[in-house]
Amino acid sequence: MREQATDEHNDRIHICFICGLSLVQLDRDTDEGFVFHREHDHNIWYYVYFLIYLDNKDKSDLNGVESAIAEQVDNEELSWFPILKSLKIIKKQGKNNRSATDANKSEDLGLRMRLKYQAADESLKNLESLLT
Ligand SMILES: [Zn+2]
Repeated sequence: MREQATDEHNDRIHICFICGLSLVQLDRDTDEGFVFHREHDHNIWYYVYFLIYLDNKDKSDLNGVESAIAEQVDNEELSWFPILKSLKIIKKQGKNNRSATDANKSEDLGLRMRLKYQAADESLKNLESLLT
């Protein structure tokens, strides 16, 4: 009984609650390490606030990503959680596997995609404000 309680305590201290990655892996595979990851990348309160936000927002006001996650939450699905995934580890592993040129092309593409997404999001907001 005491051993089980100790294991659970160690898990709480050494494993990210959101993704399940360990302190050892996050300290080894990210520049910032486990503590930063747990406090910033996968802060449990960000997820709590996001779920409250989704619950309180009118379904018709949700954007595409929010709608998809809200639907999964309604169906009690957890696939939207980054289980055993961290963007920083994925990015770092990607950079190690590619040449600098490929990485730059990919980052350019990512930046262009983000800018297009932001422009589309702005257009949608403008359209919504015209319709309401
Ligand atoms: Zn995590």
